[in-house]
Amino acid sequence: MKQRLMTPGPTPVPEETLLELARPVTYHRSGPFRELLKQVTDDLQYLFRTENLVATLTASGTGGMEAALASTVPAGAKVICLVAGRWGERWRNLARALGLDVVSVAVPYGQAVPPRHLAEALRLHPDAKAVCATLCETATGVKNDIAAYGLLVAATPALLLVDSISGLGCVECRTDEWHIDLNVTGSQKALMLPPGLAFVSVSDKAWEVMDAAAGAPAFYFDLRRYRDALATGDSPFTPAVSLVRALKVSLARIRAEGIEAVWEKYARIAAAARAGVQAMNLELFAQAPAESLTVARVPEGIDGNVLLNRLEKQYGIKLAGGQDTLKGKIFRLAHMGHIDAFDVLTALSALELVLLEMGHDVEPGAGVAAFQRVLAESVAAPQAV
Ligand SMILES: *Cc1c(COP(=O)(O)O)cnc(C)c1O
Repeated sequence: MKQRLMTPGPTPVPEETLLELARPVTYHRSGPFRELLKQVTDDLQYLFRTENLVATLTASGTGGMEAALASTVPAGAKVICLVAGRWGERWRNLARALGLDVVSVAVPYGQAVPPRHLAEALRLHPDAKAVCATLCETATGVKNDIAAYGLLVAATPALLLVDSISGLGCVECRTDEWHIDLNVTGSQKALMLPPGLAFVSVSDKAWEVMDAAAGAPAFYFDLRRYRDALATGDSPFTPAVSLVRALKVSLARIRAEGIEAVWEKYARIAAAARAGVQAMNLELFAQAPAESLTVARVPEGIDGNVLLNRLEKQYGIKLAGGQDTLKGKIFRLAHMGHIDAFDVLTALSALELVLLEMGHDVEPGAGVAAFQRVLAESVAAPQAV
């Protein structure tokens, strides 16, 4: 049976990238590797929409988050964490582990954190050194308004740290225009790579904070080491050379398509997926949905774990379920990276079949038809001009 990985990380890797990964390992203290690092750093700046340096770390996404926080905020200092789900909680738990004084601004699962809640927190805590936010809350499918947070934080001495791990490269994200000081992403979501690399962009405001500090409570994750090494085209530690070569392949694909075109493509697919899910008499979970995944509630009377198991065992479609308290209650369907409109259509049609089998009230083909209708409308529009 053909297997389709449709989880919001890891995501499928294109064949040309897999072939690159199969090539022999090369030495990193060399002219060709410095040239490669220069090229991918330039491509990452294009992807991040930034003039700032983007550091490439060998770590999963959380390593990038830890580097951003440990490098900029000294132990005991105050940070504001915006929490809309498990990944906002990751920032909060990370900050606590680093000995920071955490102000948590939380909303119920399924909602985005309103910018006015941040404005209020900044007013009450003018001594906050940083604000930690999440572009796409992958646990609930919500997108937060990073541009609005950026305007608020830029007016203060605090730094804005954003986890854009399940968004960047799929969902509109403008690092410089939105005043993001440290923007963190990972390789295994929209960038069509295996897990293993994290990327962190750093603003001048953030470098000033780091340079004024005595030192970070970190060695491997001290971002200054990455800046200093990059000045000579190097990486401070042994980089994941094969993954960096594969990264070049991914970034070339994105550049060839154009980042704005990628954002628009996923906005259309996401709108079609939401229409498809609703036409199957399912309720969307996210109030402000992200373009990188669709999250819906499992209907009353249906066991979400059984639903996902059947999708995988009978049709080879791997969706993600809910985590922690949402286990069995929601399912999460990714559309980012190397997942295209027809992969999503396939997943929706299999979902329809399993829901029918399990006794849910759905008209066969209803979800597929709604998906096609929305996609047809959005694709027809530009051609009509
Ligand atoms: C997937 C994801 C992460 C993952 O972190 P890892 O350390 O790579 O497991 C972090 N934040 C968000 C929003 C994610 O979607």
